[in-house]
Amino acid sequence: MTRLLIIGPPGSGKGTQAHRISEQLGIVEISTGDMFRTHLANRTPLGVEAHKYLDAGDLVPDHLTTAMVRERLQQPDTKDGFLLDGYPRTLSQMEDLDGILEENGDTLDTVLEITADDDEIVRRLLLRSQAEGRSDDTEGVIRHRLELYRQETEPVIARCAERGLLVRVDGTADVDHVTADALKGIETATARTDT
Ligand code: AMP
Repeated sequence: MTRLLIIGPPGSGKGTQAHRISEQLGIVEISTGDMFRTHLANRTPLGVEAHKYLDAGDLVPDHLTTAMVRERLQQPDTKDGFLLDGYPRTLSQMEDLDGILEENGDTLDTVLEITADDDEIVRRLLLRSQAEGRSDDTEGVIRHRLELYRQETEPVIARCAERGLLVRVDGTADVDHVTADALKGIETATARTDT
């Protein structure tokens, strides 16, 4: 049973690593960014509401995001563990997540942080915008998303470190290397909490 979070700035490669790690560990991957993009594509009421936030690179309000995650974590496929990608992004979401897990009688095992510096992030995201055409990958929006990450999400990382949950991996190494480091870090951290 493994309940993990993966946290990293936009462009750190966390989405790619989330796919690889969840597959390797045989747990479901839950990406709030992907969930919002699916709502948007299907023009659901939540998608219509979230649209302006995604386009501006702003955070969708906590209550909407948490309601979506709460519902997702009630699905039976999460019972054997999960990897949450992109949530929590604020301290308030962190408290919400603790509450949801407590309601389900669960706790978090490990939080994986993927690091990358700002110039590398902007370079990668501009490349991605050419390849994928994501509307939130223009330079101004990228810088805004990074700022929000520093302001809102870094305090979440600090909280996870205080709780002894954090494993940090350098996201600028090549992709296979990052996956190997991450899996090793998770294994070591999980072994530590098992003893
Ligand atoms: P991502 O693919 O994780 O970079 O997420 C894309 C966008 O979805 C973000 O820029 C936000 O607008 C929205 N989003 C994803 N996760 C969250 C979250 N936990 N809280 C608020 N907004 C989110």
